[in-house]
Amino acid sequence: MNPNLTTDRPTFVTHLECSLTGERYEADQLHGLSRAGRPLLVRYDLPSIRAVAPRAMIAARPTDLWRWRELLPVRRTSDIVSLGEIETPLVPIPKSGGPNVLVKDEGRLPTGSFKARGLVMAVAMAKALGIKKIAMPTNGNAGAALAAYATRCGIETIVFCPDDTPEINVREIAAQGARVYRVNGLIDDCGAIVGKGAAEGLWFDFSTLKEPYRIEGKKTMGLELAAQFGWKLPQAIFYPTGGGTGLIGMWKAFAEMEALGWIGSERPKMFAIQSSGCAPIVRAFEAGEEHAERWEDAHTVAAGIRVPKAVGDFLILRAVRESGGRAMAVGDPAILQAVEDAALKDGLLICPEGGATLAAYREALRLGLVDEDESAVLFNCATGLKYPMADASKTLDRFAEIDLAVL
Ligand SMILES: *Cc1c(COP(=O)(O)O)cnc(C)c1O
Repeated sequence: MNPNLTTDRPTFVTHLECSLTGERYEADQLHGLSRAGRPLLVRYDLPSIRAVAPRAMIAARPTDLWRWRELLPVRRTSDIVSLGEIETPLVPIPKSGGPNVLVKDEGRLPTGSFKARGLVMAVAMAKALGIKKIAMPTNGNAGAALAAYATRCGIETIVFCPDDTPEINVREIAAQGARVYRVNGLIDDCGAIVGKGAAEGLWFDFSTLKEPYRIEGKKTMGLELAAQFGWKLPQAIFYPTGGGTGLIGMWKAFAEMEALGWIGSERPKMFAIQSSGCAPIVRAFEAGEEHAERWEDAHTVAAGIRVPKAVGDFLILRAVRESGGRAMAVGDPAILQAVEDAALKDGLLICPEGGATLAAYREALRLGLVDEDESAVLFNCATGLKYPMADASKTLDRFAEIDLAVL
């Protein structure tokens, strides 16, 4: 048995804090957004963690997501509903990317996307806090992860997705026990329905960043990168940014690890990647704004980053600016070309959002924002198997004469 999942370990959450105003909220109570309408961040007693959980001790544990228990919010092991959240590999793509490019392949996680990291944590906390019914707007992957974990522990789920969400996502959500509805609108229109029901007390709102614990789950990407890079960090990170949970989470993880003495003060340049058909963060970055306006008429093949308005916009923008990185938009043709190149040249089937990071990396090289000698990590956030692939329907008649030499 995995001791990460069978042993109770000391926990260190002290309180929660409004990410905008710093206002304090009590731990171990049900919270949504802060009174200022912004995400809540979980705070830990880092000096105590530093005293009891040295880096070497964590490093000696099995390498799954639960090795980081002291830095996670779940108090009781019995609240953890696990489907096997492995440490994801860093896969080189020398031909389509370059000599120092590694893809963090999150498609290997349960339900085939990195949404599992956030939802495994949020569902454990929902279970701990006695929530019985959850609703969520999704572009697909978050709904699937929610359905899987919530169903496993008997929490009822209702999921709303834009009506053009790929069929496979809608079906996987339903297959794992959620009630799923297609809505004639975008993800924030779905979010409005969720918010209305939550205000009426019908369910708990699990929208991105509207509950505090998905960030903590996504933070493990930053913890893992540090461990995988020998307690240093890569020089650049390319993150496909919708709600930005992962980017915000990794940035938080870096600060916590520095406070623990696990890493130094050096940070990667953080690149927030969006599609040019939906680039509210890029527009705000370029205009020097602290918050991002809603993007109208959002469209892109990369559905996971089709998020017209992000409630954590200012947290994304701050992290990107502090890191010396940049918010960049890439077009659908470049995204699809990148997906094709990774598969055909390096044998790695990535999702369109992952393709966006490769396309942006290439653009960043051209613009001199990164150097080929610098280590760069691209996030492939979901398995390429969930997405449409080019037709390949050549057939053979086994009764006819087959010219094998021309096959
Ligand atoms: C959710 C999702 C994203 C965006 O992640 P955020 O952390 O919410 O910005 C990117 N790609 C895929 C495939 C997703 O499912």
